Amino acid sequence: MVHLKLETLRLNDEDQVVGPRNFKPTSTQICDEVVRWWKEEPVAEDLLIDTLFERLNRRRSNWSVTKDELYHALKSHNLYTNEVNELKTYDDMIQPSYLTDSDMDQVDKKLMDKVSIVDSEFGKGLIATQDVPKGGMIVHESLPLSVIPQLDKQPLVARGKCCGVCSAFTTLSSQLIIKNNLDCNSCDTIWCSKQCKKLDITHSILKHPTSRNPLCSSVDWIKFENFCLKESLYSAYAVGVLYARHALQPTSNLWEIFTSLCSVSQKVRWQASDSTNVGGTFDASSNGKLGSDVTTPTMETQWSLAFGMFSKAFPKCELNNEDFLNFTGTFNLNQTMGQVYPLTAHINHSCEPNVRYDLEPKYGIKVYARKDIKKGDQLFLTYVNPLHGVTLRRRELRVNYGFICNCARCMQEWETRQKIVNHPSNILTDSETTTTARRKSSMKMARPSLKELLENGDEFDLEIPSEVNPRRRLSVRFNSHVTLAVEEE
Ligand SMILES: [Zn+2]
Ligand SMILES: [Zn+2]
Ligand SMILES: [Zn+2]
Repeated sequence: MVHLKLETLRLNDEDQVVGPRNFKPTSTQICDEVVRWWKEEPVAEDLLIDTLFERLNRRRSNWSVTKDELYHALKSHNLYTNEVNELKTYDDMIQPSYLTDSDMDQVDKKLMDKVSIVDSEFGKGLIATQDVPKGGMIVHESLPLSVIPQLDKQPLVARGKCCGVCSAFTTLSSQLIIKNNLDCNSCDTIWCSKQCKKLDITHSILKHPTSRNPLCSSVDWIKFENFCLKESLYSAYAVGVLYARHALQPTSNLWEIFTSLCSVSQKVRWQASDSTNVGGTFDASSNGKLGSDVTTPTMETQWSLAFGMFSKAFPKCELNNEDFLNFTGTFNLNQTMGQVYPLTAHINHSCEPNVRYDLEPKYGIKVYARKDIKKGDQLFLTYVNPLHGVTLRRRELRVNYGFICNCARCMQEWETRQKIVNHPSNILTDSETTTTARRKSSMKMARPSLKELLENGDEFDLEIPSEVNPRRRLSVRFNSHVTLAVEEE
């Protein structure tokens, strides 16, 4: 049992050097810098333009930017607004899920014990069909639609360094692996358990150049996989894995379920993204490595190259480029930590969720009540880190899921922010005390209940700075202070 305690440190990472302001950044450079700063300091995203301008000037002491230029750069890239209705959303373009209770019944009767799929004001959702007390389990999906092995571990898988399915580094000796028949006869792949080996039904057709299966050219699959890895097109790879399972077992209902989930073209999604994604807001699973500018033709080219390789890998596949983009959009809208759990995927979002999930070591997911749930209540999970401020939460949701969150918490926090906007007396003065006071109030705003959230920390990613003391594993950043959960001595 690891005991965590909270520790707050002051950082001094702002650029304080004063020199001539002789560098004129482009609008993209401004957005990149601001998004990078917000990534380091999420609460700064709630700041108003005057404070943003003042702080940016302190960060980049050689930049020559006017407040107007900053405002227009951010506004034109959907990064700043006082009027949420101005932001580009795409929820009206999302095709809702077609799945019903009886489709899910066919997957597993027990799944539907306590929930039902219904139409709600947020689209398809899940409601409780009985009371569930706080802490009670409400959904248990023991396997995702099909396990999608981690893309970035594939080079290690090919060398037998980790399990071909779950990517775990195995502690078994090579004798034990051979004795338990956990190695492949034709390549260097190994599996950590009999269960993982059994789940890897596409291994030989995807990974053995000698397989000669007419459904799949493994040479081309490996090219596709490498391309997806290089370009961080995680969802393209995931669609490829799901399609391969379907091609090999066409009688399973995997593909039917997958293609019945809510969907929108990936193209619609990347067009709604902010200018350059340097902060990795869009499709966090691709680590934000989406090329220099997601709105340039680069994305279009990358995706059509990926589709070309996918088609070569599956010569009998009749999907076209548009289908492929729709399915990658489907994957992104419905995935949880890189896997698709079809029932859990129906749970809508709220920044004050009434359920949370735990992933099980061998691919299962369990959804628990965070508070007492009454029969007929809709279930809500949070899709974003609930420790983030309203502006960042709304941006992440808008970019990745196409909607502006209007949950009670967002409405209240946004209203607080608007009060500051609408009261000229509250607008920034040069006085450091005002800034500090406002920072404190926005910190309070961004921290619903740190203790409770940390206790339930599995359901969202905490920001983990890459170069910190490894003992400081979970960290959440606020302003020039960092709050860390560190192991107790
Ligand atoms: Zn495994
Ligand atoms: Zn093999
Ligand atoms: Zn919200």
